[in-house]
Amino acid sequence: MLRYLTEKDISGVGMTSQRTRDRLIERLRDKGIDDERVLQQMRRTPRHLFMDEAMASRAYEDTALPIGHGQTISQPFVVARMTAALLEGMPTEPPLRVLEIGTGSGYQAAVLAGLVDEVYTIERIGPLLTRARERFRQLRLRNVHCRHDDGTAGWPAHAPYQGILVTAAPERVPQALFEQLDPAGCLVVPVGGAGGQELVRYRYDGDGRLQRQFLDLVSFVPFVGGRD
Ligand code: SAH
Repeated sequence: MLRYLTEKDISGVGMTSQRTRDRLIERLRDKGIDDERVLQQMRRTPRHLFMDEAMASRAYEDTALPIGHGQTISQPFVVARMTAALLEGMPTEPPLRVLEIGTGSGYQAAVLAGLVDEVYTIERIGPLLTRARERFRQLRLRNVHCRHDDGTAGWPAHAPYQGILVTAAPERVPQALFEQLDPAGCLVVPVGGAGGQELVRYRYDGDGRLQRQFLDLVSFVPFVGGRD
């Protein structure tokens, strides 16, 4: 049975309390995140609900954590960095639609849900998506739309997207994602193999040419084709 979460579930206690969450926000600020919209949204998003209870006491450490099936919930700093880079490269006028590849726990999508109009998110591992979908429903995030599929082909039905965020690292960015990108939007993606990945932002310049901008060195789980 689906149970909506109470204020207390969401606000948390002890290691998951608002005060613990506030300390994480201060740490992100110290590390250079200065987009107030992103910081406030992460302050409001209960990361402890996006992992197993056994792990929840570590939810507000600035670290990636396992979510099963060999996957991880991204490090908060990386979520903040990617979200800020995405927003900065997107138009400011609605409608703002964002496509995320790699739903995982659903945390990144939940952060985006408070910042843009619609979030479309694709995950290739069925049980992870089922859990994430349940969390979106419990938190009443009605603007997050999920799909169980390989994200290589994007999600053409709702294109173009003003923002595309990939949270697993492909060796090369799938062509379909460029095709589904709004000419005024941006695509943020970690690119590279196990040896090392670069977080990159793609945008079109005034002449319609795609520009690639290096943002950071990162370490993501690999982008994998096919559906599980
Ligand atoms: N954004 C997630 C991070 C999840 S880790 C969060 O906030 O928790 C990356 C996820 O990408 C994994 O769950 C993995 O299964 C998924 N993934 C990898 N390749 C994929 C592909 N081709 N299509 C869709 N999802 C993919």
